[in-house]
Amino acid sequence: MHIALPSHAGHWLFGTDRRQRAWLRRTLVAAGIYLLAAVVQWWSAEVGLAQPALAHALILCLAPGLFGFYLVIRSGLSQRLADPALTLPQMVFAIGVMAAAYVINPPVRGMLLMLVALVLMFAAFTLSPKASRMLGWLAVMVFGIVMLTTGWLAPQVFDPSVERIHFVFAAVVLPVVSLLAGDLSAMRSRLKLQKAELQAALARIHKLATRDDLTGLVNRRHMEELAALEQRRAQRSGQQPCLCLVDIDHFKRINDLHGHAAGDEVLRLFARHAVASLRETDVLARWGGEEFLVLLPDTPPDEARVGFDRLRRLLARDEAWGDQVALRVSFSAGLTQWQAGEALRDALARADHALYAAKSAGRDCLVER
Ligand code: GH3
Ligand code: MG
Ligand code: MG
Repeated sequence: MHIALPSHAGHWLFGTDRRQRAWLRRTLVAAGIYLLAAVVQWWSAEVGLAQPALAHALILCLAPGLFGFYLVIRSGLSQRLADPALTLPQMVFAIGVMAAAYVINPPVRGMLLMLVALVLMFAAFTLSPKASRMLGWLAVMVFGIVMLTTGWLAPQVFDPSVERIHFVFAAVVLPVVSLLAGDLSAMRSRLKLQKAELQAALARIHKLATRDDLTGLVNRRHMEELAALEQRRAQRSGQQPCLCLVDIDHFKRINDLHGHAAGDEVLRLFARHAVASLRETDVLARWGGEEFLVLLPDTPPDEARVGFDRLRRLLARDEAWGDQVALRVSFSAGLTQWQAGEALRDALARADHALYAAKSAGRDCLVER
């Protein structure tokens, strides 16, 4: 059973944008940790582990972590920034908060260093390897200064020998964690790039497999697949399609008089004009050299003629050929209705006969069989 409420609540909490949802999920995980930290901080002040005034000040300082980052991302304000997930500001904020907590909670300060390592792992999500390493060194520096000053100013609370051990731990562990997070981030970037390349390659392969290189029309193999689909669809709807074989008249002359490249250009132009003249739902395929097959779904022959008349009129206009009026060609066409249950081969044989009749009748015309 589908439960609607959580999904609505999810939309309300995280929005609908996929990327924004991921950022907000991470931000809320961090907010949960801040909430826990605030509770622990409040409790430690209550039991006398921390000075209440300082502890309460720190809890107030946690507000941006609890609500601020979430609101800025959720409202879409961060979308205009280079780092819309606010990863870097959130991490710098977290390191600052940890450093303050380190000073305010002397008995448990060593434990906080573990949390700093946890924060640095978040770099794996969006930061560059370089930014991740820089952040690691920033953490070492901030904590180094904190340990040095506390050990110097309040040695009775912050035992300098303990501070030294802490510093060695931070100086070794934090950069290593940052390095690993950076490596993970680099791996993610590589995977993302590979995925994009793979998608582009797939799209290209699909195009190569289904399209004719020269004209961009559907190729013969794909046309056979589309025709089979259309025949099945037509059987359900009861509306039979038409098939029309189109052959350019005296095309050999174009090649002989103007060269093969000009012939290719004629094929491209012809295909473009045919697409423009026929219906969007009609499928045009390059069937052979200068021969095209058009599949016209849901179209009785009388209606089918209209599109080819339009194409004939277009090809007759000078503007259709631009500065290459000398390349102007006409076409002959054989039209037939594809009968229900009839094999494509048989319908095509009829269209071919019609085309032959059109050529015999002097070309530049359409014959229906
Ligand atoms: P008809 O009016 O009887 O159709 O005469 P035609 O000259 O058009 O017919 P024919 O079949 O004799 O010639 C077709 C020519 O099309 C032969 C071939 O060299 C040329 N051809 C086939 N494919 C291509 C192509 O991709 N590019 C070019 N430039 N020419 C092609
Ligand atoms: Mg021809
Ligand atoms: Mg031909």
